[in-house]
Amino acid sequence: MMQWSYDTLLKWGTDELTAHDVENAALDAWYLLEHIYGISRVDFLMRRSDSFDAAQMEKSTAYQALIRQRSEGFPVQYLTGSTEFMGLPFFVNEHVLIPRQDTEVLVETALSMMKPGCRLLDMCTGSGCIVLSLAKLGTVTWGIGADISEEALKVAERNRENLGLSQVKLVHSDLFGSVEGVFDMIVSNPPYICSDVIPTLMEEVREHEPMQALDGGADGLDFYRKIIQGAKEHLCGGGQLFFEIGYDQGEAVQRLMEQAGYREVECVQDFAGLDRVVFGTLW
Ligand code: GLN
Repeated sequence: MMQWSYDTLLKWGTDELTAHDVENAALDAWYLLEHIYGISRVDFLMRRSDSFDAAQMEKSTAYQALIRQRSEGFPVQYLTGSTEFMGLPFFVNEHVLIPRQDTEVLVETALSMMKPGCRLLDMCTGSGCIVLSLAKLGTVTWGIGADISEEALKVAERNRENLGLSQVKLVHSDLFGSVEGVFDMIVSNPPYICSDVIPTLMEEVREHEPMQALDGGADGLDFYRKIIQGAKEHLCGGGQLFFEIGYDQGEAVQRLMEQAGYREVECVQDFAGLDRVVFGTLW
């Protein structure tokens, strides 16, 4: 058996990922090393060339297995079980979409308009990243994250516990089917990819992330239509509905909201200047 050190093992991992065209090979190889050995960058720098002891050698097999999975396209966040969103740590697995930086625009927009004592609903909560970060950073006194996937709700529940947010409850529901109550804000990043665009998505997304969290039907707007209608029964007077949208859905979703009677409907761009969030008020 090869005698490893952190240095040689990391180099092996980086080379292996590079050979398989993994984009951020060096960084991913590091994240996996950090995950398996629980070491900080400082530990690494101080002990990088020390030969591994027996326990470390044993873990090198697990590291190699993760590198192989990563080289087959498995997302690094699912392998380490962790990611960051709004500067907060989130647990993820293959039952939830990996939180995207784009979605931070939705959270920032809602945060900027949130009033004290906010009652919040997050429809299609997935990992819970939206409702939990809003509860952590905002003034939410009562929050619900709803999802149709029991497996996703287990992930959201774990995140809720880790972040210590007792004001948030996770509810199993097919859209508004089992949701009770009236809210000041409803937020949602629903599945919004057109069914016929799905086959053209990056392989890593298409093969590994949950299809149920991506497919928005023939024109990608199925969930917007349903949530726009359903939310009317659950928003208080002056309550607001916020959506994340695809870059080319801004006009369509604004029109759907206006037709349904929402007012002051606006679109917000992301850091790349693309339409990313649509929100409006129900009076
Ligand atoms: N709300 C979750 C997120 O933004 C899940 C979204 C989804 O499943 N479409 O990551």
